[in-house]
Amino acid sequence: MVDGLEFFSDDYSHARTGFLSLAERRAATVTSYPISPRGPAGEELAIDVAWIGSREPRRALVVSSGIHGVEGFYGSAVQRQLLTSQLDVLALPCDVALVLVHAINPYGFAHLRRVNESNVDLNRNFVDHPGGHVRAPEYTALYDLLNPTDMDPEAEQARIARLFAIAEEQGFERLQQVVTGGQYEHPAGIQFGGQRQETSNANVRSLCRAHLGGLSELVWLDLHTGLGAPATLQAIMACPHDAPEMDRARAIWGDRAVSMRVPGQSASADLRGALAYGVAEELAHRVEVSLALAEVGTHDPVRVFLALRADNWLHHHGEVDSEPGRAIKAELKEAFCPADAGWRRTSLAVGAEVIAQAAAHFAAHDD
Ligand SMILES: [Zn+2]
Repeated sequence: MVDGLEFFSDDYSHARTGFLSLAERRAATVTSYPISPRGPAGEELAIDVAWIGSREPRRALVVSSGIHGVEGFYGSAVQRQLLTSQLDVLALPCDVALVLVHAINPYGFAHLRRVNESNVDLNRNFVDHPGGHVRAPEYTALYDLLNPTDMDPEAEQARIARLFAIAEEQGFERLQQVVTGGQYEHPAGIQFGGQRQETSNANVRSLCRAHLGGLSELVWLDLHTGLGAPATLQAIMACPHDAPEMDRARAIWGDRAVSMRVPGQSASADLRGALAYGVAEELAHRVEVSLALAEVGTHDPVRVFLALRADNWLHHHGEVDSEPGRAIKAELKEAFCPADAGWRRTSLAVGAEVIAQAAAHFAAHDD
């Protein structure tokens, strides 16, 4: 019986194989961009791009997964659901190509990390290097609380209590902005945006230049998990509230479309170096681009944050292949892809819905 749960894989390797075989069944043209690190079983890691429909389209719908590694379990499931069944009812006009980008951060997907092989949050890496490396003194001031070198329970209790006190003082949103906005000074810290253009960043840019530059319109859903109310989806835009892109996003996704630039409006902070900025740099001067970070909530934000923080400790100070290491990995996966069947079904449904909304937008402007 098809109930959606089968689209969720247990690991990157199965997600990739499943995606590629479905793409082949749909007669997609597949281009793979391998990276040099390998997976836990020595397997190849790659960004896979499946291109369906017109080779010379006027417009395109891009759906991408796994820029945040472990968040790819959900994104890949949405893509596989799309290839298996949703595509038959999507009714994309024939001048619209469907482009599925699987596992933008294959290392993080395979090794259960949100960051890539260089501890870089790829969704903070799309800045000028080094010109765009804005200093983050408030992050630096919190460095030891955010990036402990031990997991001693007593010391941890004190550090976490201190973080709660700061959240109380400054407001949760302000602290979220300081912690997650992106930093370029601390390579071993959480939310590190990198010191150079990472391979996945370069690959995404070359995909844009080689294949998407001739379009008149591009709608892009970049799938994420971990922020917001459980199993609900926000289409988060990186443009200001009053930009024309925001009007387009509202026309496509209705109330789901929100701007990260307006404090308190989106589940995300205002991010430096997000994918949207890189895609805009490559394409926005000639293509009408509407790129939304499609963010689906999982657990409460403190749990998600502590899972990330523990994983960062593990990779810098602990041992992945140990009992505590495996527990931290299991918690990280739960934080970004809950095992609960209800969460999985509802989250797949909302993922399908925003894809259907994008397709309906193309059909409505078919001329
Ligand atoms: Zn994410």
